Amino acid sequence: EWLDVHQIISLLVTKYENNLSVQLKATEPYIHADRMHLTNAITNLLDNAFKYTPENPVIQLKTFNENGSLVVSVKDNGIGIAPEHRSKVFKKFYRVPTGNVHNVKGFGIGLSYVHQIAKAHHWKLQLDSEEGKGSEFKISIPLKK
Ligand code: ATP
Ligand code: MG
Repeated sequence: EWLDVHQIISLLVTKYENNLSVQLKATEPYIHADRMHLTNAITNLLDNAFKYTPENPVIQLKTFNENGSLVVSVKDNGIGIAPEHRSKVFKKFYRVPTGNVHNVKGFGIGLSYVHQIAKAHHWKLQLDSEEGKGSEFKISIPLKK
C-alpha cells in the first residue's frame, strides 16, 4: 500500500496535545509499507519518549530526506540510555534495570516490535543517546527509484 507518511503522522499526533513539536521536512514522504505497522512503530517511539522523560518534556518528531531515504526521527530530552544498554533495548523483554534509573511500568516489548517491523520492511533503526540528556530514535526508510 502506498502511504503518505506526513498524512499518517498528522493523524497520529492529534493524540499528543502538549510538548510535542512536529517538523515535517521530507520532500518525498511517500513509501510502500503497511499503514498499521508504520503507525504502531512511530507511536511506540513517541510513547517511550514521553515515558522516559519525567521532567519538562520537549519531544520532537521530524521527517527529512537523507541519502535516498526518508528518515522519521523521534527525539526526547529524557533520561537517556547508557552505552552498554543501547544495543540490548531492541531485544524482547529487555528493560534497562530499574531502581534509581527509572520506575516506569512496561513489558520491554515496544522496541522489539519496532525492530521486527523495521526488519520486515528493510528499514534501518538508529539510536543516539546521551545519559541524562536524552535519546533520538531514527527510522530510515529507503525510497525506491
Ligand atoms: P513496553 O513498551 O512494552 O510498554 P518498555 O517501554 O519498557 O515497555 P521498550 O519500549 O521495548 O519497553 O523499551 C525497552 C527499554 O528501553 C525501556 O524499558 C527503557 O529502559 C529503554 N528505553 C526505551 N525508550 C527509551 C527512551 N526514549 N529513553 C530512555 N530509555 C528508553
Ligand atoms: Mg515502550
